[in-house]
Amino acid sequence: MQRVDLQGIGMTSQRTRDRLAERLRAQGIENLSVLEVIRSTPRHLFVDEALSHRAYEDTALPVGFNQTISQPYVVALMTEVLVNSGAMGRVLEVGSGCGYQTTVLAQLAGQVYSVERIKGLLDKARQRIKQLKLNNVLFKYGDGTDGWAEHGPYDGIIVTAAPRDIPEALLEQLVDGGRMVIPVGDRSSQDLVLVTRRQDSFEKQVIQSVQFVPFISGSLR
Ligand code: SAH
Repeated sequence: MQRVDLQGIGMTSQRTRDRLAERLRAQGIENLSVLEVIRSTPRHLFVDEALSHRAYEDTALPVGFNQTISQPYVVALMTEVLVNSGAMGRVLEVGSGCGYQTTVLAQLAGQVYSVERIKGLLDKARQRIKQLKLNNVLFKYGDGTDGWAEHGPYDGIIVTAAPRDIPEALLEQLVDGGRMVIPVGDRSSQDLVLVTRRQDSFEKQVIQSVQFVPFISGSLR
C-alpha cells in the first residue's frame, strides 16, 4: 500500500479534508482505511485553481472536456464497496478523468491500471500521480469498452462513467471471485451495481441510484 507524498504541497487544507472525511463518515462510509485515504488525498490538486476553494465540498465539479471530478461521497462509496468485498491486488479503473479516484485506489490497491478516452484528461491525471509520487499506477489512452486484457484478469474493476449495459470484456477480465463496481443506466436514471464473478456466472447487487457522465464507446479524442 502506498501513500501520497504531501511534501511540498502544503498541509493548509488538512482541516477541510478532516471535515470532509467526518462528513462522509456521518453519511455512512465506515471503512477506516477509505476514510483515512480521503483525509490524506489533496483533492484541490485535481480541479482548476479557480475552483480549488470548493475542492472539499461534497460535490462533483467540472474539470473541462465536458467531464467532472466525481463527488467525494461516491468515490468513497465505490471504493468502500470494492475494499469490503475482497482482494485489492490488481484493480482496473475505466474512466481516469482527472485522476482523483485513481489516486484513492492507488493507496488501497497493489497495482492500479486506468484507462481514459480523452487525452487531455489522461495527461493531467498522469502528471498528478507523478507529483504525488505514487508508482503503482499505469495509464492507457483508449476506449475502456475493451478493458485492458494485457494486465488482467483483475481482482476489482471500477467504472466511473455509466454505460447502458455492462461491457462484456470487463466481465471477462474479472478473476473468479472478482468484483466490479459500475453505474448502469441512461442519463436520467442509473444504478450503482456491484457485480461479483462466480466462475462463469455474475451475481449483481444494486447499491443505490447515482448520476454519472455517460460511458462513451468508440472513437477517441
Ligand atoms: N474517475 C474520475 C471521474 C471520471 S468522469 C474522478 O475521480 O473524478 C468519467 C470519465 O470516464 C471521463 O473522463 C470520460 O472521458 C471517461 N470515459 C467515458 N467513457 C469511457 C470509455 N469508453 N473508455 C474510457 N474512458 C471513458
